[in-house]
Amino acid sequence: MKTKILVSACLMGFKVRYNGQDKPLIAEVLARWQQEQRLVVHCPELAAGLATPRLPAELVGGGGQEALKGMANILESDGTDVSQHYLLAAWLALKTAQDSGCQLALMTDGSPTCGSQKIYDGSFQGVTQPGMGVAAALLRQHGIEVYAQTELVELIARVDELDKANS
Ligand code: SF4
Repeated sequence: MKTKILVSACLMGFKVRYNGQDKPLIAEVLARWQQEQRLVVHCPELAAGLATPRLPAELVGGGGQEALKGMANILESDGTDVSQHYLLAAWLALKTAQDSGCQLALMTDGSPTCGSQKIYDGSFQGVTQPGMGVAAALLRQHGIEVYAQTELVELIARVDELDKANS
């Protein structure tokens, strides 16, 4: 069985980010994986009904793990609490990954949803800190391995390993 990978839609060139832009990751391997039908392209925020463009949002009072427990909030830059929308985004990402049999995810780092290594610190000053977004945290809680776009080499190695284990 081929290893499947949930991938952030903005990494695949879809203009779904808060600012109406994409964050394309030009990698031959992504084109190959797409041809091999391994990729499940998904934008959790769009799936949860958020509009594009939208205001930037950051986690305040903790990271994705804390937000999942109601101990941190996700606020837009005008102070609106959008935690519930982002929690829905996280659960929809998990459902999509599980329904399509994804063991791995490649997600846009820095996002309050998809970030897996770093997130913005809630000050809206462009400052990052180590942490996870809500979807990345929830996927990891359910055993799905999440990689940032800076970890493509590690992801390629993991796909090869899982392909062998699954064959
Ligand atoms: Fe990209 Fe994820 Fe943000 Fe959607 S939720 S725009 S896929 S980083």
